[in-house]
Amino acid sequence: MVTEGTDKSPGLSAPSVTFAKYDKPYPRELEESVTESWTPEVIVVGAGLAGLVATYELTRAGRRVLVLDQENRANLGGQAFWSLGGLFFVDSPEQRRTGIKDSLELAWQDWLGSAGFDRDDEDQWGRRWARAYVEFAAGEKRQYLHDLGLRVIPAVGWAERGGALADGHGNSVPRFHMTWGTGPEVVRVFAEPVLAAERKGLVRFAFRHRVDELIVEDGAVTGVRGSVLVPTELGRGSASPRDVVDEFEFRGAPVLVSSGGIGHNHELIRRNWPEQRLGQAPATMISGVPAYVDGRMLAITEAAGGRIVNRDRTWNYTEGIHNWNSIWPDHAIRIIPGPTSLWFDAIGKRLPAPCFPGFDTNATMKAILAHGHDYSWFVLNHTVIAKEFALSGSEQNPDMTGKDLKLVLKSRAAGGAPGPIEAFLKHGIDFVTADNLTDLVTKMNALARPAHDGTTPVLDVADLERQIVARDREVTNAFTKDAQLQAISNARRGLSDRLTRVVAPHRLLDPAHGPLIAVRLNILTRKTLGGLQTTLDSQVVRPDGTPFPGLYAAGEVAGFGGGGVHGYNALEGTFLGGCIFSGRAAGRALAAAVR
Ligand SMILES: Cc1cc2nc3c(=O)[nH]c(=O)nc-3n(C[C@H](O)[C@H](O)[C@H](O)COP(=O)(O)OP(=O)(O)OC[C@H]3O[C@@H](n4cnc5c(N)ncnc54)[C@H](O)[C@@H]3O)c2cc1C
Repeated sequence: MVTEGTDKSPGLSAPSVTFAKYDKPYPRELEESVTESWTPEVIVVGAGLAGLVATYELTRAGRRVLVLDQENRANLGGQAFWSLGGLFFVDSPEQRRTGIKDSLELAWQDWLGSAGFDRDDEDQWGRRWARAYVEFAAGEKRQYLHDLGLRVIPAVGWAERGGALADGHGNSVPRFHMTWGTGPEVVRVFAEPVLAAERKGLVRFAFRHRVDELIVEDGAVTGVRGSVLVPTELGRGSASPRDVVDEFEFRGAPVLVSSGGIGHNHELIRRNWPEQRLGQAPATMISGVPAYVDGRMLAITEAAGGRIVNRDRTWNYTEGIHNWNSIWPDHAIRIIPGPTSLWFDAIGKRLPAPCFPGFDTNATMKAILAHGHDYSWFVLNHTVIAKEFALSGSEQNPDMTGKDLKLVLKSRAAGGAPGPIEAFLKHGIDFVTADNLTDLVTKMNALARPAHDGTTPVLDVADLERQIVARDREVTNAFTKDAQLQAISNARRGLSDRLTRVVAPHRLLDPAHGPLIAVRLNILTRKTLGGLQTTLDSQVVRPDGTPFPGLYAAGEVAGFGGGGVHGYNALEGTFLGGCIFSGRAAGRALAAAVR
């Protein structure tokens, strides 16, 4: 059951979710009895989606599982709760019903074109995971989730279209299926059976238990040590205190590490930043994930003898805006844009093809960073923002998160921007509006930030106007050479895109579509594409390539499988799926191993 938060202002409140009949007060004595009278067969570090899926599989096989998490119970499900619930399926009934022709072969071509696997050693398991995952997405995945009660909305969309070549990065057809109920629903379908297993005594949670060390005995991982953090009643997503009140040690069971990526650890992201490939790391980054996505377990697992690969591969977005109503520190929201906004770098030059809104994350990152700046600009108008802006985050989509069909129709089909987007227009520090370009540029210049060399760019209104007018002139030219306008025509071929996502081409400077809007786009940190290298059973590999007895990893900490299932570029909607697939593999392998 999903209920809306008490504050009804659009976009203001995180949805409050209860897991059906398990929303009764939790009997504390269960947590306290963990060490004395109950011994686990498996220890899981991290109660995010990957940890929950593994625990679900383990309890289905009748195994006793101890789940540790550094956060409190309110954070059950981790990042997945905040997600949009976008899932990658191949050749689904939803695709077929809307005339989209997809196949395993096409999806595999797209995956390889995006991944660009080029490291024999570091990619050896990631590549195998990729093949297995695409087969899962084209086969069993939908039924597995359907059987658990998960449903997707009938319109299939895009979150990222990709580069310019058929065998390059990106999806050739729409594959982004939104969960009805968004991220909280993805969490619910696994959390409910796990909470039921807790009631039966198969699962024990130890919240506010932060693992600091893996115990290795005779070459095998046999347990964990760590710190008990001060109790807190803080709500989901808030950064919690790190004061230590006690220590703990649990032994005698294999360990699954499902502790998430490094997205809130900017220092670690900078240290691993691929300067050669993308340019100098941005001076300013904002956080698309909660503070607990700290990456600590990676170094802890490496110190115990696990192998980390593909450290330089992360998936950070170029369309980040400061949340005007932050839940976690430095809270950033990603715009998932339709294709019409004009995209300018910090000095006011239009980005080259294929760097159009929603097309190619890494190519755009490189273009933005090329001149030493860490932000860029969308220039658009009210018609465009009303139809083409979507915000990634369950709390930014209260209609779909709350499974409220009436609200969906009201907010998306009635014209005008949905409430959460209007709220950003009103309160967001990255948004400026004006009735004419001169005033708009004055306001944009007031938001400029210095580059690495200390100079602050000043946008030239005449130059910006020249570029927009040149583009506007092409709107009525059927032979246009403007690649973005060609892409817009292409995008409007799909019925659902035409109806809900892509405005009819028009002159951006036409006052009938005003006011003009500019959005300062920041670099938003999010996903970790490298990590602990694992076999297809999710068993962690040692530096010599052999499986590490007693140690498993799943989800983002394992690069969503194998230490990097995505290679260099991710197809959208494959992170939740990667957690589900690798968590499932880990749970099943561990259930067999402890038999
Ligand atoms: C706003 C947002 C939108 C997204 N949208 C989508 C989408 O539409 N589609 C998609 O596919 N993906 C999406 N994602 C990505 C996806 O949600 C995440 O990649 C995924 O949920 C990660 O799950 P995980 O279980 O690996 O890690 P996490 O969810 O990060 O969970 C890890 C858990 O481990 C705990 N932990 C960490 N270290 C320790 C330690 N030392 N001791 C004890 N506990 C520890 C943490 O507290 C945390 O609870 C989105 C993410 C965000 C934030």
